[in-house]
Amino acid sequence: MTWKQNGIRHDTKNNRVRLSKGANHKEHPRAREYILVEYETRPGVTVENLQQVRAVYDQQNERWELHLVCNDEIETPDAPGNETAGIDLGISNFAAVAYSTEDADLYPGNRLKQDGYYFPKEIAKCDDSGGEQATRLHAKWSERCTHFFHALAKHIVERCVEKGVGRINVGDLAGVREDENGESKNWGKHGNLDLHEWAFDRFTNILEYKAKVEGIEVVEVSERDTSKTCCICGTEDESQRVERGLYACKSCDAAFNADVNGAENIRLDINDESNSESSPSLGGDRSTGWLAQPAVHLYDLSCGFQPQTEVVDCKP
Ligand SMILES: [Zn+2]
Repeated sequence: MTWKQNGIRHDTKNNRVRLSKGANHKEHPRAREYILVEYETRPGVTVENLQQVRAVYDQQNERWELHLVCNDEIETPDAPGNETAGIDLGISNFAAVAYSTEDADLYPGNRLKQDGYYFPKEIAKCDDSGGEQATRLHAKWSERCTHFFHALAKHIVERCVEKGVGRINVGDLAGVREDENGESKNWGKHGNLDLHEWAFDRFTNILEYKAKVEGIEVVEVSERDTSKTCCICGTEDESQRVERGLYACKSCDAAFNADVNGAENIRLDINDESNSESSPSLGGDRSTGWLAQPAVHLYDLSCGFQPQTEVVDCKP
């Protein structure tokens, strides 16, 4: 249930909110009936510019909560720098990030995958799929995903600040929904397209917000051909994407992590012809080791993201 501004009277002096009952809940449509709510805030928190009040049922604690939605204008600081980072969102690795400083981060999303196996199984065990227990499991699952997305977005934004990034390119969702021929991707037997769409949308929104607070812009760029083009020499070949997450290029005889290759192409925005950086340098004068050995960050509930060093044999 939601109250909009015309149903809310906010008494800021006494920390009170008066919520009018909708006409259909009143004895008489014009009766002055309302719910008076008193609230307390943590030190340093002020409730102002109240836009909405929502009544939300908390499944876990089995109680109703009122959420006060305030409009808080944040002052956007100057960007930490002029560099661009690229993010490739995917299934086998939730996110791969390429930086212009020639390094890359890989987030396998271990926690999301574990939950992705656990929760559907537990939900299937419930006697009644629309019942209370199943609803509670769904709510818990989505809460855990959201928690993971916040932690991941925070980690990526912190890395971007360190590296003087002012712009993050993210592959557009059209690339997730369709393959290069415009056909729906086959997600395999555990895949669930809706779930991934939801996850990428949700994550991108959280990232956008957290980046904005640091003055970093998030831009959706075309993902077309980013997985089959070599980010070093620009050679495009469907057959180059090889097994085990490695991308091997026949032209420049190098092998990289396939998702990092995608992220680097997104960083370069290879589909933007007006972008001078978008044509990869010929002759391969850039170092390529970082493309094969990204820093791998696994998520741990108590310690957050922990770096691991992944050693990849980069000779095909
Ligand atoms: Zn190449």
